[in-house]
Amino acid sequence: MIKKAFLGLSTPQVNYETLPAHLPETEKLPVPRSITLHHPNNAAYNIPSVPGIGDAVKAGQKLALFPDEKSYVISPISGRISALSPYTGDFGKGYIAITIARDDTETLDDTFQQKIQTPSFELLCDYLVGAPGAPPLDVLANSNGDIKTIVIRGLDPDPMVDTNQYIAQSRLKDLKKGIQILKEVTAVQDIIIYTAGESVQGYGHIGARVAGVITRYPAALPHMVMKDVLGQVVPAGKTCEDLGVCFFSAEAVISIGSAFESGRIPTSKTLTFIKKDGTYRIIETCIGTPIRNILEAYGETVNEFDRIILGGPMTGSAVYTLDHPVQPDTDAVIVLDRDKAAYVSDYPCINCGECIRICPAKIQVNMLVRFLEANQYEEATDNYDLYSCIECGLCSYVCVSKIPIFQYIKLAKYELERAKTPEAANA
Ligand code: SF4
Ligand code: SF4
Repeated sequence: MIKKAFLGLSTPQVNYETLPAHLPETEKLPVPRSITLHHPNNAAYNIPSVPGIGDAVKAGQKLALFPDEKSYVISPISGRISALSPYTGDFGKGYIAITIARDDTETLDDTFQQKIQTPSFELLCDYLVGAPGAPPLDVLANSNGDIKTIVIRGLDPDPMVDTNQYIAQSRLKDLKKGIQILKEVTAVQDIIIYTAGESVQGYGHIGARVAGVITRYPAALPHMVMKDVLGQVVPAGKTCEDLGVCFFSAEAVISIGSAFESGRIPTSKTLTFIKKDGTYRIIETCIGTPIRNILEAYGETVNEFDRIILGGPMTGSAVYTLDHPVQPDTDAVIVLDRDKAAYVSDYPCINCGECIRICPAKIQVNMLVRFLEANQYEEATDNYDLYSCIECGLCSYVCVSKIPIFQYIKLAKYELERAKTPEAANA
């Protein structure tokens, strides 16, 4: 157990922490009696009848609710489906929440195991999209071979979160195997792993180039890594993928390696759990575990106006229910006392300039926010570089008026993206 100073009480210089050479063991939580999986649902909220409530599922079984869609989830446990319900995520994204009540005795689906002797990219896409770390296999699949470099995050993008740094350092064998499989089944031969500068010597002979980044936030965000490690500036409105680079978390690569080493699809998620008192642990819990179970395991109580944040303190999102499950990409759960939570306000901008001074993309944030507050997204793009924003959240962090600038930015980008869809165009 380690004590951290919460960011809200520190100075605006935000640093990553580097872990000690001798890592403590992860703390493993018991598999709960009931788990919930979020199955992506791009259609309207039609609840399918197959599989339906009462149906038996095996551990490792693929659950695809919509036959004409590629999306699926893998059940980490064997049991029976006890509920199917619509769920709305961030920015209105639709899911079907599948709740599974666990059997006392595990029954394993070994379909994946039977196929691992002949690794292929299709096999990865068919079974490992929802593995811990959420391998972005769809990005590779949709790139038409344009991805030439895979960059592995051996340092978590957000400060205070140690999940990928920990797992990269403690599971080198699976990391090496994952890199080998990726080179074998994709056309990508250039793989780079980055970590905190002083930790690079721990990564000899893993089949990837190794790079170090400085430990000052936001050096581990993809756009900064593109600039500092690959020497490429991502132009406004373009993505890293547009430049032929795809980012994987270390855990995603380790999941691929572990799946082929063990013959079993991994379903145990590693995450950083930070309590209200600032102490933290690296824990392992089954994908689908409700946040409530983690809090109960550590005796953490949540009072009115306390916050639960999934992801890091700079770029994470608050959730409104303790029933929210751990997802393949949940790298951190932070419980924030109401007294330490940075509340937003409706105070106006006072032109103090703090946001401009700290913005790594050199955006005139004080002007940008005026357009965003007025929902004038096109103007914000044309006149104040909305798409140059690398989504670090530092402007919100320093804003003396507590304007939720980062949230405005994410909403604006989401709305502009949504406006490009055929449905919106025809509305
Ligand atoms: S989130 Fe704010 S500080 Fe960070 S790049 Fe975007 S505008 Fe600049
Ligand atoms: S930090 Fe906040 S108050 Fe200061 S200029 Fe930026 S938006 Fe305005």
